[in-house]
Amino acid sequence: MLRFTKTLFFLISLFWMVSSQAQNEVYSSETTQEIADTTFVNLRDYSSDFVYDMKYATEDNFLKAKVYDCAECMLRYKTVKALIAANKEFMKDNCKIKLFDCYRPLSIQQKMWEIVPKPEYVADPKKGSIHNRGGAVDITLVNANGVELEMGTSFDFFGIQASHNYKKLPVSVKANRKYLKDIMIKNGFNSFDSEWWHYNLKTGLKDNVSNQKWDCN
Ligand SMILES: [Zn+2]
Repeated sequence: MLRFTKTLFFLISLFWMVSSQAQNEVYSSETTQEIADTTFVNLRDYSSDFVYDMKYATEDNFLKAKVYDCAECMLRYKTVKALIAANKEFMKDNCKIKLFDCYRPLSIQQKMWEIVPKPEYVADPKKGSIHNRGGAVDITLVNANGVELEMGTSFDFFGIQASHNYKKLPVSVKANRKYLKDIMIKNGFNSFDSEWWHYNLKTGLKDNVSNQKWDCN
């Protein structure tokens, strides 16, 4: 009888050990769970190595209107990962990415369209743009002192001079644009011919347009 009790106790102990270990495994796999690539996240939660100059959260933009409630850079998680990888390469050369615009909710695109209903300047909200899909960023580079590298025009300059194909620029400006473009393309982005500042994540082109809201508190 004693032997039976001992065996029973051993079996109960074994079961308890195995089941508690299994629970721990479930717990640890929950804490390390991967975020889906298409989830919208705030870049600030994943890196503090970016410089922010979110133009549409101010009146310093071509609309002359503040259309964002606050200056946050929301993007799909896969865009964030690619952007951080690119920024790490720039940082090896003592440069950093400065952000002008990231994800743009569809309701904001509508607001912009109402202010400037010209398809050459603002994407028609009926079609949406990659900004509305969380796969586009408008960026430049700053040096170790936080000074923007010379890119030939300001952000959102509407003219031929902003094009990657415009050749009548100083050699240093062309070199800066090429440096930005080469590293962004290496990290999964496409450039946009008429805007040196705009980059699309290649795998983000088919994601849905979205009207996420972000927390400004
Ligand atoms: Zn853009």
